[in-house]
Amino acid sequence: MIRCDALIVGGGPAGLAAAIALRQKGLDVLLADALRPPIDKACGEGLMPDARKDLAALGIQVTGHDGAAFDGIAFLSGAHQATAPFESGSGIGIRRLQLHSLLVARSHELGVRLAWGTRVQVAEKQPLQLDGEPCNYRYLIGADGQSSRIRQAGGLDQGKIFSRRFGTRCHYRVQPWSRMVEVHWGDLGQAYITPIGPEEICVATVAREPTTRMEAVLGSLPSLHLRLEGASALSRVRGALTTTRKLRRVTAGKVALVGDASGSADAVTGEGIGLSFRQALLLGRAIAVENLDIYEAGHPVIQRMPHLMSRVMLRMDAWPWMRERAMSVVSGQPQLFAHLLALHLGERSLGDFLLRDAPALGLRLLA
Ligand SMILES: Cc1cc2nc3c(=O)[nH]c(=O)nc-3n(C[C@H](O)[C@H](O)[C@H](O)COP(=O)(O)OP(=O)(O)OC[C@H]3O[C@@H](n4cnc5c(N)ncnc54)[C@H](O)[C@@H]3O)c2cc1C
Repeated sequence: MIRCDALIVGGGPAGLAAAIALRQKGLDVLLADALRPPIDKACGEGLMPDARKDLAALGIQVTGHDGAAFDGIAFLSGAHQATAPFESGSGIGIRRLQLHSLLVARSHELGVRLAWGTRVQVAEKQPLQLDGEPCNYRYLIGADGQSSRIRQAGGLDQGKIFSRRFGTRCHYRVQPWSRMVEVHWGDLGQAYITPIGPEEICVATVAREPTTRMEAVLGSLPSLHLRLEGASALSRVRGALTTTRKLRRVTAGKVALVGDASGSADAVTGEGIGLSFRQALLLGRAIAVENLDIYEAGHPVIQRMPHLMSRVMLRMDAWPWMRERAMSVVSGQPQLFAHLLALHLGERSLGDFLLRDAPALGLRLLA
């Protein structure tokens, strides 16, 4: 019988972050993943300033050597462009493989037991097994992504899926032309561009229809298409599902969910990985005092703003007239767009935004 304080199922960013956070609190942690590192996945590869801070709290300082820093977000739609710098700090574009390697190295350093190439089998009313061997644990952490089996087995599947879209990503050898993450809006979906290195960018697209290919989304965005013309691809195109999902509960008994397994915001928010770091730190604090209720209560607070933003952006995706209206307002009012970004990143409270900016925004949208 394998024994540990905490068994973590899934060694993506969420599982590794949770392993580090729990090990920092002194638990004996075993993490199992069916794949072997470094694990790649379709992702826009942008970490916002708040995600960088949380990563530092997990003991990992990402610098310009690991990727490329960016200073804010730009939205581009037709003739409109709106740019907002971050109020403090900078984000970083970092290859998924590099981020995974840093998380694995930190887990090693802290003494997390890592079982790669190990499938965790979950069968009803049976003890959980690691490649056929039963495991005894005090806590079971489901970090097994969108289609989590731990979520199903723990009876935590109840909730709501607000959106289901399809993402792709590819890297290109191009000198980044901006220090912003650019989000290009078109009728087929969005493409966002993250600087990754002096001669490299990550291009991610998200579309409503599973049949919409990356080239089609890029082809519908003429200015971006022009920039990428002739650029050589540095990786193969990868795809993944992205959802906006809210669960009723994320804990049950000694089971807790983190990362995409615990609910998610659409990829266009660029917050999935950052959310999982925040959840991991909160989970560490909750388990340190043997009280998962702290995690249960704090999890929706962490998800609230990305969910709200996700739903606003999905409306902009589905309703071109609304996108046109919103873009014409924020492109003429860069301050307003900067405040929206600060709200999204938790640098500004919702109360403050409602008091100072919402009336002006409402009036301009209606005008
Ligand atoms: C197109 C796209 C662009 C995105 N852009 C961004 C962005 O710019 N910034 C950002 O922060 N987020 C972004 N995201 C979201 C981000 O990629 C996810 O939120 C993040 O990958 C979630 O990590 P995770 O560890 O929860 O899940 P995953 O990365 O999916 O990891 C789950 C792991 O569990 C393992 N596993 C599953 N079942 C088992 C089992 N039974 N036994 C053993 N192992 C198992 C899998 O092998 C996998 O390694 C994007 C997503 C998409 C699709």
